[in-house]
Amino acid sequence: MRVMIIGGGIGGLTTALSLHAAGLDCEVVEGAAELLPLGVGINLQPHAVRELTELGLDGELAATGVETTFMTFTDRFGGEILALPRGRSAGYRWPQYSIHRGELQMILLDAVRERVGPVRLATRFEGYEQDGDGVTVTLRDAGSGEVTRERVDVLIGADGVLSSVRARLHPDDDPLLWTGIRMWRGVAVWDKVLDGSTVLASGTNSTAKFVSYHISVAEPRWVNWVAEVKVAEPGVVGEANWSRPGRLEDVAPHFADWDYQHFHIPSLIAASERILEYPMVDRDPLPFWGEGRVTLLGDAAHPMYPIGSNGGSQAILDARVLARHLATVSDPAEALAGYEAERRPVTSELVLAHRTLPVEKTTLLVAERAPHGFDDIADVLGEQELAAMADAQHAITDSDVRALNERPSWSVR
Ligand SMILES: Cc1cc2nc3c(=O)[nH]c(=O)nc-3n(C[C@H](O)[C@H](O)[C@H](O)COP(=O)(O)OP(=O)(O)OC[C@H]3O[C@@H](n4cnc5c(N)ncnc54)[C@H](O)[C@@H]3O)c2cc1C
Repeated sequence: MRVMIIGGGIGGLTTALSLHAAGLDCEVVEGAAELLPLGVGINLQPHAVRELTELGLDGELAATGVETTFMTFTDRFGGEILALPRGRSAGYRWPQYSIHRGELQMILLDAVRERVGPVRLATRFEGYEQDGDGVTVTLRDAGSGEVTRERVDVLIGADGVLSSVRARLHPDDDPLLWTGIRMWRGVAVWDKVLDGSTVLASGTNSTAKFVSYHISVAEPRWVNWVAEVKVAEPGVVGEANWSRPGRLEDVAPHFADWDYQHFHIPSLIAASERILEYPMVDRDPLPFWGEGRVTLLGDAAHPMYPIGSNGGSQAILDARVLARHLATVSDPAEALAGYEAERRPVTSELVLAHRTLPVEKTTLLVAERAPHGFDDIADVLGEQELAAMADAQHAITDSDVRALNERPSWSVR
């Protein structure tokens, strides 16, 4: 069986490793001329770390990322509202990692090159046709412009939020939906934010929110930050480019007086060599992902707001489930249908859960009740209100520790 994967991002590369581990042949086709360590920080939840551990990458992850211990929410003055344990601190057998997206991609890429073979670069997917026996894929060489048509048994669109495979499968009425929140992102060398392994989320999405966490264990200790500012009413946008440059003068004024004594946010922003800008977007969940021998995976299948450590994590879970179905069901179309039946309902629910901006209700309440800050959160919120905030966050960050710890492995032996 020849499987073609379009896209050499986190999802596409993990799919190649998973198919290879399950004994299947595949090839990754990537539009970019070179795969560079792009992006800034992302978080990998224990569910995803388990899968990468089963692929033998635990050592590389531990040497590169930061094992996350807590997610702490504060108001915009730094007053602690709630601290939730993450990863092994929460009882999972596998850690959560805060890691540079580009470094994670390079770990996956090195493993793919070593185990599966070269990634086909500078080659863009343009279209496909399928019949009962296979799929004919149209590819264009990004350098020469030459078009080739190739026959494969299965086609997987892992080509991200602007997926061309998705556009072929769902040509109508599938816009990018924007919250009206602009996200500026950057990394800078910084001594220590809290204990050095906590994801700190301050403020509220109704006005401005600042998320920061370390992404390297070795010196110099890089801190990733994301500034989320409400700049418009929700609407449709035409573009979402992860590599679009942002400007210091656009983001800095929103956080000019965010000084927590131990942590001076304006200085962190100013210390960043490069600032990126991205609209907080998603798309409506699809009524179906694929047809026959063609399917979608990762952001191509279920783009969601990048606020819950789910972008990379869910793509990795998709990859592992897809490989399990393709390796254990002989008919490719049936295997893809089984994969979609397992993954589409869960991820559609997550897309919708992210839309509620889960902790927003409580952080807004804190801002209204204590507009100038507080000494003790017990003076501002009742126990039930705090418990509701924890539940809301758990709804997007899988809170069932036991289920993961006890679930049998997805590896195909
Ligand atoms: C450059 C870049 C930077 C990012 N930075 C961050 C970040 O800082 N923080 C964060 O949370 N998330 C970031 N993301 C998104 C994050 O990687 C995803 O949300 C998540 O990892 C799911 O990955 P994916 O493999 O589904 O998609 P992606 O990681 O987006 O990968 C999709 C891949 O498909 C390729 N591709 C697209 N169209 C075609 C085509 N027609 N033919 C062939 N190849 C194609 C793209 O070049 C890309 O390599 C970034 C994505 C990219 C591409």
